[in-house]
Amino acid sequence: MTWNPASVITAAVFDTKPYDREALQQASADHGIEWHFLEFRLTQDTAYAAKNARVVCVFVNDQVDRPCLEVLARQGVELVALRCTGFNNVDVESAKELKITVTRVPAYSPHSVAEHAVALLLTLNRKIHRAFNRVRELNFSLNGLVGFDLYAKTAGIVGTGKIGRVTGQILRGFGMRVLAYDPFPNHEWAKQTGVEYAEAPSVLLRNSDVISLHTPLTPETRHTIRAETIELMKPGSILINVSRGALVDTKALIKGLKSGRLAGVGLDVYEEEEGIFFEDLSGGVLHDDELARLLTFPNVLITSHQAFLTDEALTEIARTTVANISASGGQESFVEGSVVT
Ligand code: NAD
Repeated sequence: MTWNPASVITAAVFDTKPYDREALQQASADHGIEWHFLEFRLTQDTAYAAKNARVVCVFVNDQVDRPCLEVLARQGVELVALRCTGFNNVDVESAKELKITVTRVPAYSPHSVAEHAVALLLTLNRKIHRAFNRVRELNFSLNGLVGFDLYAKTAGIVGTGKIGRVTGQILRGFGMRVLAYDPFPNHEWAKQTGVEYAEAPSVLLRNSDVISLHTPLTPETRHTIRAETIELMKPGSILINVSRGALVDTKALIKGLKSGRLAGVGLDVYEEEEGIFFEDLSGGVLHDDELARLLTFPNVLITSHQAFLTDEALTEIARTTVANISASGGQESFVEGSVVT
């Protein structure tokens, strides 16, 4: 597309990392977007940095609550363009009231996230993280590294949207039985892939050797994994969460690990990740005691919200975000499924 220089759109990009900048710049050649890349996150206090911008572009840990939206609205911001799928960090009702449009990236590469979930599972189960460290120390002992065959075990997929479905399919490839739960089951897909839907979440929890969470964070899904649901899980099961940290009650998770009920936990997201994940804190002190406790378990594997981080996903995220920002100029329509308000 060619643009009229008079209609340049100014976009303030919060929480920018070098890979965001590169992907957005590549995707926006000839789109008439003037980027203001900011490294800090968007909050009520930093919203003033969006002065002169008609668009703000945000990620998973920017705090787009009502006070922040009020500052943005006063400055004339018309669009909050999320460069992610989930929008739990945006007060959607307030945005609507303040006449700010909110868009997201409805789908990019579900494979990027699903493959990361499986990477966590394989690493944890076969203790690759421990083996890697041992061998580098010239410790070639195998004691304590016993895993189990995934073949013929049961995987429970909670949420069979785009990412849950791909994860289920990959695990079917290992010869696992896949049990799924979703209030809106996709029976056609289940039939094609040999996945079974459980009639209730409790059935999935009781019968799964591996549980992987793929739901958005909503008031209903908050603390899906908590003391009562951990009680229902098979002793010795593995939990994977690549969706949103608050799907899991961290205190209950630590208890489940200490009691041995959970044999392994793979997390790409953490309830209190804001201000920690994506940052290099290696020279300092970790002030989050629960995260510090989680990091002491040999059977807990944590990555810093990187499941989306593939070339394909970054390119697609940038393409959709740029298309939505361009559409806010009024000449084109938003990418289908992007508009939240
Ligand atoms: P999606 O909208 O395609 O699917 C979500 C599914 O969850 C839907 O089928 C929905 O019916 C189901 N669901 C809703 N409430 C449920 C409940 N109570 N129990 C069971 N199922 C329920 O979303 P998606 O693209 O598959 O993404 C899922 C989530 O993954 C996102 O909301 C986001 O939080 C997370 N995510 C994480 C990363 C990462 O880098 N770690 C990247 C992208 C997405």
